Amino acid sequence: MSAIIIDGTAIAKQVLAEQKVIAGQLTARGNTPGLAVLLVGDDPASAVYVRSKERACREAGVQTFDTRLPADTSEADLLKHVDALNNDPKVHGILVQLPLPRHINAVKILQRIAVEKDVDGFNWRNLGALLDGHPALAPCTPSGSMILLDRSGVPVAGKHAVVLGRSSIVGKPAALMLLERNATVTVCHSRTTDLPAITRQADILLCAIGKPKMIGPDMIKSGAAIIDVGINRLPDGKLCGDVDFEAVKEKAGWITPVPGGVGPMTVAMVIANVVSAARRSTG
Ligand code: NDP
Repeated sequence: MSAIIIDGTAIAKQVLAEQKVIAGQLTARGNTPGLAVLLVGDDPASAVYVRSKERACREAGVQTFDTRLPADTSEADLLKHVDALNNDPKVHGILVQLPLPRHINAVKILQRIAVEKDVDGFNWRNLGALLDGHPALAPCTPSGSMILLDRSGVPVAGKHAVVLGRSSIVGKPAALMLLERNATVTVCHSRTTDLPAITRQADILLCAIGKPKMIGPDMIKSGAAIIDVGINRLPDGKLCGDVDFEAVKEKAGWITPVPGGVGPMTVAMVIANVVSAARRSTG
């Protein structure tokens, strides 16, 4: 039997509609949620991401403040821009679009964003809060993945969740969120031996490795929920995930497509974080 296809675009629209209601209430009280995006340089892929975030902001009634800086902007200048946004009461969330030019230390920039405006959830204090089970602003891709599971009726508690990838922005926080929801979690990475033996045990398999179509049907358990975070570009220009979607969907219980799965949810969760930061700013 073919898997249920988890429609990330539709679920993201629901999330944005819910956020629009809260944003409207905040606007009525004179506190319209605001997102500031800092884009350095002219990377075309970054410009596409920024436009999609701005579109989602408009859809949810969130104001945007755009700063586009030339590629040769110095680290010190960029820090000044971050400081100014940290001090601007109209701005509730700050996003610095990655990647930054090589001469800029991304960690230093990201950690300069005020913890209460860190809508990407990358600040070490926000990550620490997640570790302790009290996230205020959680990383958007893993939290979006959790919503996809929940709204698709995938049971999590007591299940074996296998996370492929251990980055600080996807794999590790996803593992923590699954653990918090009482899954038994295994985290795999490039040094894991006999990966298929582990992935075949997964009731939930979250793939965030950046290897096109690496996960085939022989690597999954029948009926498993497959969350494909990977975004890879094939030589013909098309996008694909880490999972061989067409083959795996015949064996899985649930599966997210790429595009149209986790990607739109990541954007929706940025907006949800901006709205929640705005709400907290009013006490
Ligand atoms: P990173 O490159 O930071 O991490 C990749 C992880 O995959 C590493 O932990 C690496 O292991 C592991 N890995 C690499 N190759 C293998 C392998 N053959 N077997 C097992 N593990 C492997 O990537 P990100 O976490 O930033 O992103 C992962 C993917 O998700 C990318 O395709 C990215 O484009 C996509 N992405 C999608 C988003 C969305 O909104 N849908 C948002 C963010 C990312 P090790 O640690 O040992 O090197």
